[in-house]
Amino acid sequence: MTGRSPPWPNGARSAVAFSFDVDADSVVHASQRAKAPGAIAALAHMRYDPHVGLPRLVDLFKGYGVPITCFVPGWVADTYRPSVEHILGGANEIAHHGHFHEWPSGQSREAEREALMMGIERIVSITGRRPAGYRAPYYGLSENSFDLLIEAGFAYDSSLFADDVPILLESKAGRLVELPPPASVDDYSQYVSARAFDYLMNISPPSRALAVYRAEFDALHEIGGLFVPVWHPAVSGRPAQARAIGDLVEHMMGKGDVWFATLEQVAAHVRGLIAAGTWSPRVERIPFYAEPVLR
Ligand SMILES: [Zn+2]
Repeated sequence: MTGRSPPWPNGARSAVAFSFDVDADSVVHASQRAKAPGAIAALAHMRYDPHVGLPRLVDLFKGYGVPITCFVPGWVADTYRPSVEHILGGANEIAHHGHFHEWPSGQSREAEREALMMGIERIVSITGRRPAGYRAPYYGLSENSFDLLIEAGFAYDSSLFADDVPILLESKAGRLVELPPPASVDDYSQYVSARAFDYLMNISPPSRALAVYRAEFDALHEIGGLFVPVWHPAVSGRPAQARAIGDLVEHMMGKGDVWFATLEQVAAHVRGLIAAGTWSPRVERIPFYAEPVLR
């Protein structure tokens, strides 16, 4: 049957998959290219990611026994290999996030395929197997992305603010599970005010950011949804922000009926439900429109 929320394992009411985009300074090189080595402030800000924020968060979650999914660009996996290897352990997952954090919707089909392949290769060199999941850098999926992801054997994407529960995306090449993050839980909009990136938001105290995350989680929990925060170690891996994450994990654990999983585990669960005929997700055809609605 089609229901809004899937049955979660062990009778859990909702599912939580913490995800971190480990961009590091790939974004600086991708956007500034030859000028990037001179962008000292921006580089320093983003190198906090592998050197400080990521190990802190990995250890924090290890302490709770809660798995995390880290989306890592291929170049970051290569450049900061010991930090990225530190992710592995427990049930943690390393997933794909481009090679240099390129913007897929700005790439040709060939360039997008190449970045995909380079990212896969680097992740395989660390984990020994192909990544199951993908999140588009800048959430910027292109109209080619789904076919390319399916052809490359990905099990899921997690880039679209499309629903509160998993859905299926159907393109020419086949079907892909989409595990949608809630639109309100990217940490950049809470915490980042950096002249180096021309990104100037009002900085929230962690208590206020936590109130946003917690409200989102509480509401999704009530309806049996999937909570997928999109956080960045250079942003949320700082001391006060990491402490707020710990408070949130404890709040969730207090519910007693939350399934903590990696996104790969969630995708496998969804496929299992479909195969068993116990739940059918909503299906979206990609592209949404075969031709422009207005000319
Ligand atoms: Zn990113």
